[in-house]
Amino acid sequence: MYQLNQIPSEAQIKKTIRWCVFGTTLHCPDCLSRSVCVYGKRYRCKSCKGKFSLFSHTWLSNLKLPLQTFWLVLWCFVAQVPVKQSSKLSRLSITTIRHWFDVFRSKLPEDQNILEHLVQLDEAYFGGKEVRTLFLGKEIGTKKLAYRILKRNPAREDAWNFLESYIRPNTTLNTDGGSIYHKIDNWWPVNHNRDIHKKFEFEHTSEIEGMFGVLRTFVRRMYHHVTRDKLQSVVLEFCTRFSHPEMFENPQSFLQITLHLIPTRC
Ligand SMILES: [Zn+2]
Repeated sequence: MYQLNQIPSEAQIKKTIRWCVFGTTLHCPDCLSRSVCVYGKRYRCKSCKGKFSLFSHTWLSNLKLPLQTFWLVLWCFVAQVPVKQSSKLSRLSITTIRHWFDVFRSKLPEDQNILEHLVQLDEAYFGGKEVRTLFLGKEIGTKKLAYRILKRNPAREDAWNFLESYIRPNTTLNTDGGSIYHKIDNWWPVNHNRDIHKKFEFEHTSEIEGMFGVLRTFVRRMYHHVTRDKLQSVVLEFCTRFSHPEMFENPQSFLQITLHLIPTRC
C-alpha cells in the first residue's frame, strides 16, 4: 500500500471507529451496561458477562484487511475512485476491490422518498437480452429521487404501481409520450403533462433524461460495467450519492451512518 496523507494512523482509525460504534461511552452491545472491563484487545461486560471487541458486533466483525488498507479502500469508494485505480492504489486485486465496494453498497440505507410538487418520471433500459427496466423519478428543484427496477419491459400497470408507491396525490407529473403513461391520471390523481419526442418537445423531461446520462457515465467510469444482479445496488449507490452527498464526504462520514451495533441477543 502507498503511504498517503489521507490515511490516518492505525490508532486514529481505531479511535474513529470506536466513536462511530459506541459514541462517547463504551458499553455492552447486548445489555447496554456501561460497566465494562478491558482485557487485552477485548472487553467483558460485568453485568451480563458478554464479551465483545470494537468490531465484534458490527459488519466489520470479519475484517481481515489491515486497518489502514481498509480505510484506503473505503476512501477510494467514497471519493468515487474507479475500481481499477483503487486496485492499483491499494495493491489489492480487482476482485477484492469489487468485493469491498459490494459490501459498502450493501450498507447503504434503502429508505426511498415520496416525491411531490413537480416530478419528472422516465424509464431506461439495461442489460440487453434479459432486459432490466429502471423507473426513475425526480422531484424538480430538490435532490429527491425514487426508483424501481423491473426484470422485464414495463407495462402500464408498472407505471401505475410506481405512482402509487412514490408519488403523492396532486403532484404535477411530467413524462414523455410513451404509451405506458397514457391517461395515467385516470389511475392516480396527478396533473399529467407529456412530451412528444417526435415533435422535439423535451422541456418537460429534460432533467430526468440528464440524470440517466449521469448514471450511465458513473457506471462506466467507476465500475466499467454492471452485471444485471448488481444493477439494483449500483442504482441505489448512484441515488444515495446524489441525494445524500454528506455520507460520502470521507470514510468517517460513511461509517458514522452505516456502522451500528448489532446485538447478538435481545
Ligand atoms: Zn452486557
